[in-house]
Amino acid sequence: MVRTLIDSHCHVDLYPYPSDIAADAERDKVVTLVVTNLPSAFEKALPFIRNMKYIRLALGLHPLTVEKHDEMEKEKFVRFVSKTSYIGEVGLDFSPSYISTKGEQIKSFRFVLECLKEKQKFITLHSRKAESTVLDILEEYKRPPLVFHWYSGSLKHLERAIEQGHFFSFNPSMIRTAKGKKIIERVPPERVLTETDGPFVKIGKRSAIPQDVAIVENYLCTAWSTSISEVKKRIKTNFFALLPQGQSLI
Ligand code: MN
Repeated sequence: MVRTLIDSHCHVDLYPYPSDIAADAERDKVVTLVVTNLPSAFEKALPFIRNMKYIRLALGLHPLTVEKHDEMEKEKFVRFVSKTSYIGEVGLDFSPSYISTKGEQIKSFRFVLECLKEKQKFITLHSRKAESTVLDILEEYKRPPLVFHWYSGSLKHLERAIEQGHFFSFNPSMIRTAKGKKIIERVPPERVLTETDGPFVKIGKRSAIPQDVAIVENYLCTAWSTSISEVKKRIKTNFFALLPQGQSLI
């Protein structure tokens, strides 16, 4: 019986008490991928989670922090890339508030993909309103399958991402909207992962915590007409499929 919950995208460092969130997830054996927005945030978090078994730290260069992507951060990205199997959050965001930094974002995203050339990594990706450019660039770099986190684009681009072999992580917010449900319906189970995107996703008035991926698992039970243990087995297999060879989940 697979008991493990997997939160493949959580901003643990952005909660008021990050160590409590990490310690609770570790205690409850929730495999939690801690994404960061800058390499300096990765550097800061590393000593805290180094000895934890279920907490994994991802190296990120988030499109919404593009003003801070200076030489120092890029140098740190290069330095830390060999220290982890996990990359995120990276990607592009062309929504109205951020479209003005489009050019700089693309430069950063290309920089990330250059650093990852020939390297097998688990990558969790942001693609809001930039789905087609993201797909074009991934194709250009011949990037092996990665994870589109909280995909919210068109079904047309979704089909293209599925065709390219990519995966998708679903969170408790997506299961509450008609569009999110439609996306979940279209993605084959063998490409599905679970996430919270905490603290940004809310459960009622509180921020979602890694344990809340159980809500998504329950939704998938109904959507796929299967048992909770089959859902867990599926998610675990999918997560494992994206890890560099020889890496175990726990
Ligand atoms: Mn995020």
